[in-house]
Amino acid sequence: MLVDWYDREMLASTAKMPWRGDPDPYRIWISEVMLQQTQIGTVVDYYHRWLEKFPTVTALAEADLDTVLKVWEGLGYYTRARNLQRAAREIVNDHADRFPATFETLKTLPGVGDYTAAAIASIAFGEAVPLVDGNVLRVYSRLTCEPEDIRYAKTKSRVRQALSQSIPPDRPGDFNQALMDLGREICRPRQPICQACPVRELCCAYQQHRTDEFPVKSKAKPTPTYHIVVGVIYQNGKILIQRRPPKGLLGGLWEFPGGKVDDGETPENALIREIREETGLEVKIDRQLTQLKHAYTHFKIHLACFICMYQSGTARPKAATAQRWVKPEALRQFAFPKANQKILPLLMMQEKR
Ligand code: SF4
Repeated sequence: MLVDWYDREMLASTAKMPWRGDPDPYRIWISEVMLQQTQIGTVVDYYHRWLEKFPTVTALAEADLDTVLKVWEGLGYYTRARNLQRAAREIVNDHADRFPATFETLKTLPGVGDYTAAAIASIAFGEAVPLVDGNVLRVYSRLTCEPEDIRYAKTKSRVRQALSQSIPPDRPGDFNQALMDLGREICRPRQPICQACPVRELCCAYQQHRTDEFPVKSKAKPTPTYHIVVGVIYQNGKILIQRRPPKGLLGGLWEFPGGKVDDGETPENALIREIREETGLEVKIDRQLTQLKHAYTHFKIHLACFICMYQSGTARPKAATAQRWVKPEALRQFAFPKANQKILPLLMMQEKR
């Protein structure tokens, strides 16, 4: 029933999602990783650009990290890009350029968890292993009137177990994609379009007129907001940028020096302190360039950016792995986090004045 519906919808979905219908595990892998936390409409251009730059797993393994991060720039969650490259290198070095073909071996690659391994194993290699993401959990929860919170690991594990019993062995990839499509297009978080749903006759929540009661979800914790200051430091017409450590949040990206404003501190004092601690430089603040807000998964930032003039000292990286003085027009060659990217056009505008 579900797979028949998928067959009918397939043509339309292939037009929207160019990776659909392509059994190449490399392409499935790239698209699935890009789609985590990102809308399909945003991913399509990135997907094409990525394949142009890194058409094979070998090309990705041989690329330098700066190029990988630059192609990924703007997609966020940069650990995904770094892990793609680490995994590509493992495939080339430890698997003789051949993609691991089972759910269990795929999970040994860096950054490949249950979800990505199940996507590649079922779609590319026909292994009957279920895919469980937010869309699938929502559909399952409504179909069965699942009473438990779907945020709990034990609920997810039970859903995975139940789906393992239902997945058709002859078309596991299509079944998985059908469930995800159903969740995204029809069984939407709010106001599901039950009249267009191919499984409404089997759906507990629909039959009992209780679709708004599922899925059961505990309240998410409130996200904290941090106040951040960064400095665009000028010396002889060049600007100082530094690269973040390879691991952790925004790892490997370039940024303007700065950090958190402590309680009771003014933004200006915090910036002078942070620049001194991070770079070893003394600077004079000239003026504020901009203020902006940005949201990450687990926190938000209010960021103030100041133009600073170099006063004394020799730049030396502390937590950063590299520092460079670059001409303003060369900044675009480096991969920056989204919040820093928002600063660049303003900087270019003031350079033209
Ligand atoms: S009938 Fe409605 S609530 Fe049930 S699975 Fe279909 S869209 Fe979701």
